Amino acid sequence: MSTDFDVCVIGSGAGGGPVALTLAEAGYSVVVLEKGPWLRETDFCKDEIAATRRSTYTPNLRDERHVLEQQDNGVWQAESTFSSGWDFWNGNLVGGATNLMSGFFHRMKPVDFRLRSDLGPVEGGNVVDWPIQYADLEPYYDRVERRVGVSGRVVPHPHQEPRSSPDFPYPPTVEHPVAAHIDRACRDLGYQPLPVARAILPFAALGRDGCAYTDFCGSYGCSTGAKGSSRAALLDQAVRTGRCEVRPRSMVTRLLSDQQGRVEAVEYRSGAASMPGSTLSPASPSRAPGCCCCPPGQGTPAGSPTASGR
Ligand SMILES: Cc1cc2nc3c(=O)[nH]c(=O)nc-3n(C[C@H](O)[C@H](O)[C@H](O)COP(=O)(O)OP(=O)(O)OC[C@H]3O[C@@H](n4cnc5c(N)ncnc54)[C@H](O)[C@@H]3O)c2cc1C
Repeated sequence: MSTDFDVCVIGSGAGGGPVALTLAEAGYSVVVLEKGPWLRETDFCKDEIAATRRSTYTPNLRDERHVLEQQDNGVWQAESTFSSGWDFWNGNLVGGATNLMSGFFHRMKPVDFRLRSDLGPVEGGNVVDWPIQYADLEPYYDRVERRVGVSGRVVPHPHQEPRSSPDFPYPPTVEHPVAAHIDRACRDLGYQPLPVARAILPFAALGRDGCAYTDFCGSYGCSTGAKGSSRAALLDQAVRTGRCEVRPRSMVTRLLSDQQGRVEAVEYRSGAASMPGSTLSPASPSRAPGCCCCPPGQGTPAGSPTASGR
């Protein structure tokens, strides 16, 4: 693959994967810089301690500290994420946290876009309506459900959002027997249970295997590819176009911008932390400040990013 790219996407999770695939399919050359390793189905195991108690798939908080601010008796206190002892829901690997998600794949409801108009202001809050409506996003929900491989069943329900397709592209995964008891209890209490959409393939499709029902799903990488992670469902396809290169273990450390604040280059460290980093710099930088990825024509380097030791 050429080292000239139209677009540089930083991070390969739920945000980066769709952008990389869409642009690669539209004919642009894309490089994805991802700080974590590129693990595949055969690399994942159902080791509870490794997956949920150690930094196997999550960033090591000793190396990647962030500031946490919490109120204690009305006073804001700052401490590092490392000393907090907290666990965080994120993923440090190609595909990001989507490898570890449970795959509950809800659409937002029309009311979610009009909270201010429909439900009114909240004292002390700054609730506003979205600038777009559910109807604007609906075709994209539909497209994502097909690309990711979402399973479920649409049932009559008072809160069912409008859909352009009558049902989910795949039937629901097999339910745990306990679910029937919970459904019954809900109905007894006057609630209306419904099957939850999952980004999990119930059988082999889209070049991936179906669910193996191992009972270890959320927090674990999927060893069959049934889970519609950004890696399995999107990035693998992006790479197959021949126009997308994923660079794992490439941690972006700085965005270098010009006088106008437009990013000219991305500085990143590849491999182990002690290795020298590299810089991807566009020949003609012109992109909006603050974004992590930008489509051609809106400022991304349409020129020749060059990797140089730094
Ligand atoms: C255990 C678990 C269960 C979940 N269950 C669900 C669920 O059922 N339903 C649901 O909708 N959501 C679920 N989520 C949440 C969902 O996975 C996240 O909301 C979503 O992945 C966030 O997308 P993102 O792109 O912001 O971040 P991520 O998906 O985490 O992707 C960010 C990527 O950027 C990389 N990165 C960060 N900084 C840099 C840098 N400087 N240089 C290079 N790369 C970088 C990271 O390593 C990561 O790969 C779950 C998450 C977890 C952890």
